[in-house]
Amino acid sequence: TIPIFLHSVVFKASGLTTLPSILLIGPSGSGKTSLLTLVSPYLLRTPKFAVLIPPQFERGTKPAQTHTSQSPISVECHLPVGKTAESDKYRSDNDPTNLAHKKFLLIDTPGHGKLRHHALDNLTNPQNLKGIIFLADAAILSAGDEGLRSTADYLHDVLLLLQKRMESKNKAAKKLKEIPILIAANKMDLFTALPAALVKSSLETEITKVRTSRSKGLLDSGIGMEDDSEEKDDWLGEVGSKDFKFSQMEEFDVLVEVAGGNVSGGEGPVVEKWWRWIAERL
Ligand code: GDP
Repeated sequence: TIPIFLHSVVFKASGLTTLPSILLIGPSGSGKTSLLTLVSPYLLRTPKFAVLIPPQFERGTKPAQTHTSQSPISVECHLPVGKTAESDKYRSDNDPTNLAHKKFLLIDTPGHGKLRHHALDNLTNPQNLKGIIFLADAAILSAGDEGLRSTADYLHDVLLLLQKRMESKNKAAKKLKEIPILIAANKMDLFTALPAALVKSSLETEITKVRTSRSKGLLDSGIGMEDDSEEKDDWLGEVGSKDFKFSQMEEFDVLVEVAGGNVSGGEGPVVEKWWRWIAERL
């Protein structure tokens, strides 16, 4: 994570806010800023900071409002017009490259622990939210790695919040019937990275542990002892299930997919699966 400065005008209320938006979340260091820089023609990155130049510069507005990446930031993006690889010759009609003109907002949220409440607050707030991308660093998800625990911890909280959104006082949250969430397993160029299928099963196993320890914590603190239902409300996924599976979220209209890629490294970015997922949701 590096600071992002929002240069000149903060987005106009009209126009941009009606664009479909995709929320980008994930632990610090997973590659969110790198992904934003890759997809936004308006984000210029230097080694120490990035400057976001919004596309709609409006005359007469106060200049130079700055914004650091400590709070959510919206970036207007276009699906990239990729080079057509030989193997991709036979593209279907709903191929992302055919949707290259489609614009969307990518909303970056801070991944730092203390700042996470922003991310969680904003989960269900953006207008016209089409989906959530949870970016994970696939190179730190081996069994026993602290990265696996902290990633699972964060993902557990996000999923629980989505599961509980129907109880929310926020009307926009209630309106979101189905929420697609893509777990984008990043840094596949690194040799320590787990393949996507293993990222999925490792996270499921680790979330099972998080779920168990959270419910034990509740019992120890006495919360939920008198009223059994309160404890159940904080249980992620299927009540009574031994192992957590992402498919258990379907009951709550949260549709989880996992796809691998890399923003940098290797022989350049490999992000086609993620674009495809976005394109299918715009
Ligand atoms: P953020 O905290 O989520 O915004 O993460 P950053 O975008 O700042 O990335 C953290 C570090 O991971 C930086 O040093 C990036 O260069 C590096 N990084 C991001 N994506 C990739 C990737 O796909 N492969 C490799 N090898 N490094 C990456």
